[in-house]
Amino acid sequence: MSVLKSFIAGQWVGDKAAKALPSAVNGQIVAHTHDDTLDFKKAVEYGRKVGGKNLMAMDFQERALALKAMAMYLQEHKKELYALSMHTGSSKGDNGIDIDGGFGTLFSYASMGRRELPSGNVVHEGPVTPLGKNNHFAGTHILVPRGGVAVHIDAYNFPVWGMLEKFAPTFLAGMPSIVKPATSTCYVTELAVRLMQESGALPEGSLQLIIGSTGDLFDHLEEQDVVTFTGSAATARKLRNHPNIINRSIPFNAEADSLNSAILAPDVTPEHEEFDIFVKEVGREMTAKAGQKCTAIRRVLVPKSQVDAVCDKLKERLSKVTVGDPSVEGVRMGALASVDQLEDVKTNIQELLKTSELVTGGNGDFKPTGEGTEKGAFIEPHLLLCRNPENGCGAHDIEAFGPVATVIPYDTVEDAVALCAQGRGSLVTTLTTRDPVTAGKIAPLLAAFHGRLHLLDAEAAKESTGHGSPLPMLKHGGPGRAGGGEELGGIRAVHHYLQRTAIQGSPSMLAAVTREYVRGADLIETEVHPFRRHFEDLQINESLLTHRRTVTEADIVNFGCLSGDHFYMHFDEIAARDSQFGKRIAHGYFVLSAAAGLFVYPGEGPVLANYGLDTLRFIEPVAPGDTIRARLTCKRKIDQGRTSPDGHPQGVVVWDVQVHNQNDEMVASYDILTLVAKKPE
Ligand code: NDP
Repeated sequence: MSVLKSFIAGQWVGDKAAKALPSAVNGQIVAHTHDDTLDFKKAVEYGRKVGGKNLMAMDFQERALALKAMAMYLQEHKKELYALSMHTGSSKGDNGIDIDGGFGTLFSYASMGRRELPSGNVVHEGPVTPLGKNNHFAGTHILVPRGGVAVHIDAYNFPVWGMLEKFAPTFLAGMPSIVKPATSTCYVTELAVRLMQESGALPEGSLQLIIGSTGDLFDHLEEQDVVTFTGSAATARKLRNHPNIINRSIPFNAEADSLNSAILAPDVTPEHEEFDIFVKEVGREMTAKAGQKCTAIRRVLVPKSQVDAVCDKLKERLSKVTVGDPSVEGVRMGALASVDQLEDVKTNIQELLKTSELVTGGNGDFKPTGEGTEKGAFIEPHLLLCRNPENGCGAHDIEAFGPVATVIPYDTVEDAVALCAQGRGSLVTTLTTRDPVTAGKIAPLLAAFHGRLHLLDAEAAKESTGHGSPLPMLKHGGPGRAGGGEELGGIRAVHHYLQRTAIQGSPSMLAAVTREYVRGADLIETEVHPFRRHFEDLQINESLLTHRRTVTEADIVNFGCLSGDHFYMHFDEIAARDSQFGKRIAHGYFVLSAAAGLFVYPGEGPVLANYGLDTLRFIEPVAPGDTIRARLTCKRKIDQGRTSPDGHPQGVVVWDVQVHNQNDEMVASYDILTLVAKKPE
């Protein structure tokens, strides 16, 4: 008899069997939860002290590399997770969403972390704003690890992705996680945590696992901690009102149930490709994960004139979905996660039927495919139609968390928006239209009460990742009923686990704290050209003031002929005289090139490549007779642990460049991004 274990304070805990967890497919017992009481005080203290310390011994870049290593290890053991996950009722396609989707999220955060986060453990969120007339006092923002633990409570429908999409940004932020999966499918999460542990990439204390109840955990949370939750609105409400959460202002992020919609715009009729695309999308969303997705389409808003056509097509499509044991060839839709959920869904369908009629499903002769499935939690897709939503429509309130959706007719697109709003805040809606004008008009109205908008036409459909897929780089979470939380959204998610602090002081102080050159800070000037320094030797604030160069008309003519840019401002004396500058001026790109000519060190050296410019501004015009000079200052260094294609270790160096004229006016300002070699070993 297998007993699942919690992983608390570095130990796997749990010997005595408690609750039996049946397979959603055949009712056989997959595992038991444990009956042992967990010491949650110890768990949070251990997380903060051991996990926090170990995570802070690394920096953003190193943690990103560790995430990648974990993702690779999990990938190698994917088959074990797939086999176990089958008992949750997941089909192969569903596992792709949960398991591969989870790994993909880890990989994405590993790569975003390396690209977008600095070395060290302080994120500088500029810009620096001067707060005094003479730049002795300025202000900016930094983001730093919070020092607490993050408690992540997950829903049963995504035992792998649900945990990893919360864990990845938390880990990157340097915060230890305590994860609590939903009990009914926690055996899959337990295996994923074991594998992460085995990967060797998880620093001690950075991930703990709770099987079963959270007991008195919330009583031990403190101001620096964070709680995130995915599940029902009722539990979200209960947990966010826990006295300790309120009294200590502990951030609480919720993803609750959401009545997402799909809207067929009036410009799409059955002869258009988009009509079939719409039907396919709704059908897929109803049946993927047996409709147990927080993003699943529950309300299908269609113009009155298209109701019958949409219902007929959807009915036809859904009738082809084979429901049963996901391991049987040809089965497209598996089971709900538990028999309890099945009862819940059936009850909610009955509630929905008080204001709707059945289009398909519920005819009594449904039999899932496969042996032993009579004990499983199977249900066939149910499509409902609420013909007169003006008389009330349960679909705006009731979430049947299974393969259930309701078609709702509308008159005008404005009515569709109003009906959509009756969901009181959703994670996502899909608007299917051929007309960019309709999209332009409707999307901003829909955006006000959605976390994500999916605009679908034939072109987007060629590559669309689908209505129901939250992506690591895009925000997941919606207002109102959807919980009011935010997850994912690229590096924004990492920021949720960091403390943002405004910081004021002299430029030198700000530079010391942000580990970035701040204009006005004390400069380091030596005899050695900064381009001759290896990555390790370069210091932030190390600077070079170049010699001067007087710009001539010949420069402008030569540059114009070389580049082919004969814009009147550079070449037409009369037009230039009538312009805002009153005279011919040099090309901005000439100023850039001339500045490079002033500051580069021409000989072979550790600077390997210039791969871009950021924040470029041409501030004042440069005319023939003006004399320019550049200041190049080492602004930021990022050690991503990378090597060049020929195997030499290198780092990223960002240089601040300011170009001034003879009157000390700044004419150009920008950052240059370079790759700089590390010292030979
Ligand atoms: P719950 O809200 O009951 O559970 C969600 C998570 O919260 C689970 O891990 C659960 O653990 C935990 N939990 C429940 N009560 C407490 C508590 N008092 N203290 C700490 N943790 C607690 O949702 P269900 O999983 O039962 O699903 C119910 C409904 O929620 C679904 O039918 C659906 O409508 C909606 N839902 C929405 C999802 C979304 O992503 N938006 C996802 C899943 C469900 P345990 O399992 O041990 O009780």
